[in-house]
Amino acid sequence: MEVKKIMADLERKHPGESEFLQAVQEVLESIEPIYNQHPEFEAAKIVERIVEPDRVFTFRVTWVDDKGEVQTNIGYRVQFNSAIGPYKGGIRFHKAVNLSMLKFLGFEQTFKNALTTLPMGGGKGGSDFDPVGKSNGEIMRFCQAFMTELWNNIGVDTDIPAGDVGCGGREIGFLNGMYQKLARKYHTGVMTGKGMTWGGSILRPEATGFGALYFTNLVLKTAGKDIKDKTVAISGFGNVAWGAAMKATELGGKVVAISGPDGVCHIPAGITAEMIDYMPVMRSSNRNKVQDLADKFPSLVTFVPGKKAWSVKCDIALPCAFQNELNGDDAKELIANGTWCCCEVSNMGCTPEAIHEFQSNGILFAPGKAVNAGGVATSGLEMTQNCMHISWTGKEVDERLHHIMESIHEACVTFGTQPDGHIDYVKGANIAGFMKVAQAMLEQGII
Ligand code: GLU
Repeated sequence: MEVKKIMADLERKHPGESEFLQAVQEVLESIEPIYNQHPEFEAAKIVERIVEPDRVFTFRVTWVDDKGEVQTNIGYRVQFNSAIGPYKGGIRFHKAVNLSMLKFLGFEQTFKNALTTLPMGGGKGGSDFDPVGKSNGEIMRFCQAFMTELWNNIGVDTDIPAGDVGCGGREIGFLNGMYQKLARKYHTGVMTGKGMTWGGSILRPEATGFGALYFTNLVLKTAGKDIKDKTVAISGFGNVAWGAAMKATELGGKVVAISGPDGVCHIPAGITAEMIDYMPVMRSSNRNKVQDLADKFPSLVTFVPGKKAWSVKCDIALPCAFQNELNGDDAKELIANGTWCCCEVSNMGCTPEAIHEFQSNGILFAPGKAVNAGGVATSGLEMTQNCMHISWTGKEVDERLHHIMESIHEACVTFGTQPDGHIDYVKGANIAGFMKVAQAMLEQGII
């Protein structure tokens, strides 16, 4: 395999799909040396096959807003790879959603899900629907319209969607309700991230953030450090940022910043339990303004408009919002301010330039597909509970999540330890995830 040639072919076939091409390039660069030691992969053209989704559905979503006006959005479901299990992955509702974004997310999801140790293939879906400023009724009508097209392509053994940016517990409720009405199938396991009274798993809402901090802790421990009394900057204030802020605080870290599209909230004394509780309130208001935190807690929080979380001095940076939210200049600013660890919690949160800055300056860095895998792993645990028709306690789920994050860390160490002894978590995660999917594809023939 030659990365340059594969990338040139992909660029020709999918011009302009910048996020997708970026995600593929990163994985291929990591796996090239090891792939080339496996002639059986080359003979079965594993790489050429793994970079193309199994199939993509796109559909029109038409709904009526509160003013009585007709709105039309585009809906997608990318069923990327099912070599190790049914398609599994979230649904993103954001105005910037397009095919490139969902293909990158489906591709990443394939390897992330492989890392979780659970039998889940990779998928992703979403729409360019913008939840900002929408009423509850509008969100419900949009979700129902989205599901009228999607329902026939998902199922408990085929494709199991969940939440992602702009799609939380409320949206999963509306989607699941419409699915059951249309499909007349009442198995609880066709979506994950469900409410606690209708098949949801305890700790699923917190799982991405909690898992990310368990992983961060392992990265720190392996490097002979810990999080106690360290300052932490977090981007975003959605579900992932909320869980991360809660667990970072619980483990003794001091969260000094959270941010939004409007700017950053600086919290010099550290985030409080009341502020953490306020994060979901801010999110579900659909205002998308982090300034609301400073308005609510004026004596403890300073809002700086137009600035990112990376402008705040911190030991540990945790991108928890969107792809490419931390670029090369941000990485330089962080490093100049003394940051020594960055664990990517969002999917592809750092640009290649930022990762290069971190790695070449000896900053501890771990990629999203390992760090944030606790979310989908706990979705896998939710599916298991649904299939067994039982419900585990929070303690049981937490122990399993812990164990899974430890396994992922171990896989990164196994595949990412370099000749000089340092651990390259990017390589480790990419190689470990790829080898599992590639082997499964190989054993199942040319399909
Ligand atoms: N959207 C989440 C992710 O990026 C969770 C997916 C899921 O639970 O299926 O992994």
